[in-house]
Amino acid sequence: MKLKNIALSALTIAIATGCATADQQPQHEWTQDKEYNLTILHTNDNHGNFWQNKYGERGMAARATLINNIRAEVKAEGGSVLLLSGGDINTGVPESDLQDAEPDFIGMNMIGYDAMTLGNHEFDNSLDVLAKQEGWANFPFISANIYKDGKRMFDAYKIFNKDGIKIAVIGLTTEDTAKIGNPEFIGELEFRDPKVEAKALIAELKATENPDVIIAATHMGHYLNGDNGSNAPGDVQLARYLNEGDLDMIVGGHSQEPVCMEGAEYAKFKPGQDCAPDVQNGTYIVQAHEWGKYVGRADYTFKNGEFTLQAYNLIPVNLKKKIKVDGKKVRVLIQDEIAQDPAVFAKLKPFQEKGQVALNIKIGQSDGLLQGDRNVVRNNQTNLGRLIATAHMQRAKADFGIMNSGGVRASIDAGDITYKDVLTVQPFGNIITYVDMTGAEVMDYLNVVGTKMKDSGAFAQFAGISMTVANGQVSNVAIAGKDIDLAKTYRFTIPSFNAAGGDGYPKITTHSAFVNTGYVDAEVLKEYIEANSPINVADFEPKSEMVYN
Ligand SMILES: [Zn+2]
Repeated sequence: MKLKNIALSALTIAIATGCATADQQPQHEWTQDKEYNLTILHTNDNHGNFWQNKYGERGMAARATLINNIRAEVKAEGGSVLLLSGGDINTGVPESDLQDAEPDFIGMNMIGYDAMTLGNHEFDNSLDVLAKQEGWANFPFISANIYKDGKRMFDAYKIFNKDGIKIAVIGLTTEDTAKIGNPEFIGELEFRDPKVEAKALIAELKATENPDVIIAATHMGHYLNGDNGSNAPGDVQLARYLNEGDLDMIVGGHSQEPVCMEGAEYAKFKPGQDCAPDVQNGTYIVQAHEWGKYVGRADYTFKNGEFTLQAYNLIPVNLKKKIKVDGKKVRVLIQDEIAQDPAVFAKLKPFQEKGQVALNIKIGQSDGLLQGDRNVVRNNQTNLGRLIATAHMQRAKADFGIMNSGGVRASIDAGDITYKDVLTVQPFGNIITYVDMTGAEVMDYLNVVGTKMKDSGAFAQFAGISMTVANGQVSNVAIAGKDIDLAKTYRFTIPSFNAAGGDGYPKITTHSAFVNTGYVDAEVLKEYIEANSPINVADFEPKSEMVYN
């Protein structure tokens, strides 16, 4: 195998040189009848997870070792490697968030990422932070469908030449960024239909660059059989919209799942098991779950213009499973331990320490679980949703508080609470805002906000107010236990994200009685917990304030 590759590479040079002046159309540089190996590696939805978790899982130092080992293995076989990210580097781990994800971008540089697309969470910070991050990165940020002042804000694609194979990687970002990104920061940006942009761009690339392989690094989500529900269309719709086979591969993100199929359904995939990627309209679609839990590895061969997937794997990065030993649950590695790369470890350690010093100080305690699990809080009122809305309401001396469930990112366990716990629940740095409205205005507002669909981040958590929701309308509204008076004025709080129109809430920032308090949500929650510790969870338990019919 090795000998064959060496012999043929001499021939490649001869033919490539011979072709160079033969035609003005870009000529392929690969050798007829030679089989090449090309491995595409990918991750997505890093969300601040530069460091390993408390169980020693994941982390960029181990990811570096894994990827370096694969590179060495592929190189020894005469092949080449391309490493791509499906975006959402930002937001989710306080140590990273407090440092604008600098350790994450440094880690990606050291691991040697070739390109990343922009996820919606790249717009959680102001655009100057994004520009700073672009400066830190040694690799390009690509997205074809983000526009500012009518022009593309980023390069639409990047061309790679691997052993004579010309690979175009195009970047695409979910249109939902306009809805779920922070409106304060993206007001001037346009997120155009990525399907339309991709189709036009691929046609353009074929006419100009004539690539051998076209890959899309996307942050659009994988929705089974293209059933995207209330989300913007994702990777499946993208593949189906294009001409069959125009796109070889989609390296995805955003829906945060391992895309492993069993026929037309998702397989019941567990770490370490085989994973079959989705195939739609001649395009492979892959996604490596989230947080650096896996590195996706797609081994292709390339011969006479044919790009063929030979093997696909989601490789766990020191993931563990719980087993019972002597009646006790212990966590054990699913596969052989991947050592942490010493250079990456040493480089990132000071960032981790700096972040932890500030975060691990106890600020209070709770006598029970404060429920913020995504699947619960987006479907029901919870004690944590109510606690947050109460903290906001008290800070602004409001009559009631509204909190979008999409802004509640985790639960808080019983026992000691640290600032880190609070920041894990509220990582976005939203500002508490309030508005004074008449009862009649409040009713119009609630008819939109109170009726947001379950199982979405828009689903609202409430404090200080009760109502019945039925047939897309609210009724029986009572504030502080009294029926709402349409003529009276009420004050309520709302995160800045929603006040600016996020989650499809009515935009109230232009209301004459709108106030931006300047208080950051996590800081308000931290203060409230400090002042009211120990938190008695029963005080915040939802009873029948919200009735959904
Ligand atoms: Zn996302």
